[in-house]
Amino acid sequence: MKHVILGNGPAGVIAAETIRKEDPSAELCLVGAESEPPYSRMAIPYLLEGKIGEDGTYLRKDAGHFENLRIDMVYGRAQSIDPKAKQVRLDDGRSLSYDRLLIATGSRPMRLPVPGIDLPNVQACWTLADARKIAEKSNPGGRVLQIGAGFIGCIILEALVSRGVQLTVVEAGDRMVPRMMTLGAGTMIKNWVERKGVRVLTNARVEAIESVDGGPMKARLSTGEVIECDLVIAAAGVKPNIGFLQGSGVATDIGVLVDERMQTSDPDIFAAGDVAEGIEFSTGKRLVNAIQPNAADQARIAGLNMVGKNPTSQGTMAINVLDTLGLISSSFGAWEGVEGGQSVELVDQDQFRYLSLQFKDDVLIGATSIGLTEHVGVLRGLIQTRTRLGEWKDRLLSDPTRIKEAYLACASAQSRAA
Ligand SMILES: Cc1cc2nc3c(=O)[nH]c(=O)nc-3n(C[C@H](O)[C@H](O)[C@H](O)COP(=O)(O)OP(=O)(O)OC[C@H]3O[C@@H](n4cnc5c(N)ncnc54)[C@H](O)[C@@H]3O)c2cc1C
Repeated sequence: MKHVILGNGPAGVIAAETIRKEDPSAELCLVGAESEPPYSRMAIPYLLEGKIGEDGTYLRKDAGHFENLRIDMVYGRAQSIDPKAKQVRLDDGRSLSYDRLLIATGSRPMRLPVPGIDLPNVQACWTLADARKIAEKSNPGGRVLQIGAGFIGCIILEALVSRGVQLTVVEAGDRMVPRMMTLGAGTMIKNWVERKGVRVLTNARVEAIESVDGGPMKARLSTGEVIECDLVIAAAGVKPNIGFLQGSGVATDIGVLVDERMQTSDPDIFAAGDVAEGIEFSTGKRLVNAIQPNAADQARIAGLNMVGKNPTSQGTMAINVLDTLGLISSSFGAWEGVEGGQSVELVDQDQFRYLSLQFKDDVLIGATSIGLTEHVGVLRGLIQTRTRLGEWKDRLLSDPTRIKEAYLACASAQSRAA
């Protein structure tokens, strides 16, 4: 059996190791498009903060790890696949044949349709190569404009602040992290970040970036303001790397459509990680859940299914935990709520504490919290186990801080009954 894995990020590496553990005799080929050892993008902020060196970002640190597992590392970018011939074509003309294929090509930053976005000092923060350029160009006192305050934007922001730059963040949404946090939570994060000396402009877009003779840039905003800066970081969302699947017949929408076994529309092709579009646990809707723990979970399930085992996923759960300049926020499941559901929101602006709970019938289906780290495990547990809260739902609607009590009362009753 020959397994080919496209993408050598966390999903690709974990799938390869899973397959090797289950099938010592399989042929295994791991294809990576970047000329780096397999690394974790998650570690890039720590690299920029100077907490680790480049080798600290590597997913496997012992020399010979992949050789010892007889995982054949191929450097090249998949350009197309032919599922009938079971072949992958790489951009250098090479072809790889497979019996089972895993697509683990991750995602890439979106390119904003803004004049000036290709100027040399406009930079994404996605790869190790990007991190090297940012480290070179972001010096103490330098003026940095960051476009986007989403999940990745908030993580990058922390690294930039630690480098001592003067930072302005421009976000098109009405709050920070608009696709992961409620209005109340996103606004609280904005207030916190501003207290730490970062200028945050929400409801604003960068419409053009200009630079005269390679001098400082001028970013023109939708508000009419013009901001002078030395470096622009573009962090306005990501999208799955699926271009090479065009014409292959593998079903895609935003990402590669997968079922609960990570199988695509082709029974010999699987997908995992940032590139895969699975089913969301709480809502049953399709979701690209672009976070590393999800990539790891999906990769294990895909790897096992590729060797003929049959584990299934309960569905991918949106879990976002963010540390923004020391303020811990989290959102889970259907944090925006669902039609016909009930909700409660608690806001303590002075203490930077926030809790929003979303219910469907007597089940907690989503939550958002800030500064209440002791509740994180409980919120996740209640949502994941679909615990029936019974009379505790009304108690929580009057006082959401009793969530731990509700968990102890209901989750343990449910597990006793099971
Ligand atoms: C700065 C930053 C900070 C982050 N912080 C967090 C965090 O704190 N918590 C968290 O959960 N997540 C975080 N993430 C997101 C996390 O890194 C991703 O969810 C994770 O990397 C997904 O793993 P993956 O293997 O699916 O994709 P990737 O890590 O993107 O790996 C995909 C690999 O495929 C390769 N590839 C792409 N196209 C092709 C092709 N055509 N042929 C062959 N290879 C190809 C790519 O070069 C890459 O090596 C962060 C991301 C960034 C950029």
